[in-house]
Amino acid sequence: MKNTHIEVVTFASLLPGPKVLVFGSIHGSEPCGYQAITKCIQEIRSGKHSILSGSITFVPMCNPRAFQKNTAYIEENLNRVFKKHKVADTYEKKLANILTNLVDTHDVILDLHSITSQGKPFVFLDYAEQLPMAKILGLPNAVTGWTEAYATQSSKSSDTIKYAHSKGKECILVECGQHADPKAKDIAYKAIVNLLAYKNSIEKRNTQLPKLEITELKKIYFKEHNDSHFIKQWKHLEFIKKGKDITKGEHPIYAPFDCYILLPSPQAKVGEEWFYLGVKK
Ligand SMILES: [Zn+2]
Repeated sequence: MKNTHIEVVTFASLLPGPKVLVFGSIHGSEPCGYQAITKCIQEIRSGKHSILSGSITFVPMCNPRAFQKNTAYIEENLNRVFKKHKVADTYEKKLANILTNLVDTHDVILDLHSITSQGKPFVFLDYAEQLPMAKILGLPNAVTGWTEAYATQSSKSSDTIKYAHSKGKECILVECGQHADPKAKDIAYKAIVNLLAYKNSIEKRNTQLPKLEITELKKIYFKEHNDSHFIKQWKHLEFIKKGKDITKGEHPIYAPFDCYILLPSPQAKVGEEWFYLGVKK
């Protein structure tokens, strides 16, 4: 397959309502979105769900070439170049031009991802307006404070949420667990169905939603030394007591306060982001 196109599937109700857009596999190495969306499409086609109002558009595989190679991206990270490009000189910029057009014509955007490290699934809470939607997706964890932490870095990069937010859309990004975790696709599926029910796109269901615990990012750590390593394989959102060693080597790092480790990246190279520490809000 040459992958000279991407697949977009829309179901439109006879009655007006919100236009919901769901992205899967913006990063090619994250299959949960693709798997969950495929299941939803099959269920709608088979009549298990009826679209009661508005419309629902699925892009199961936003980066098909990367998906086929099981790699995050081909030329550059699609979720850093997610905006309009006059000169679309890379594969991902071409994809961004197609996908941003879809965002422009929808009201609500759900973007499904997974993470490299082991650990709990969570919702990225970048803007206060996202809280109601974050609460109904069925995930017990949200992580906030990223926009504030990165505010000082004048960033030309743009991701799905930043772009959708700039267009006044309701939008949220879910990290459904570790890439290879078989449960990730179930988390993604639940998020889609819960969102569709919340938006009255499909029938409401009697689901017990967990209380949302919010962890606020407080500190970013870059890897500074080649001989520095984690003392163990930390799990995302694992609790660490104040004073406990987090890394070993000539320059060990100790927890400066009671905290939760976020997105630990054992593969980080010197100069790259290594891990983050947050506290419960
Ligand atoms: Zn991702």
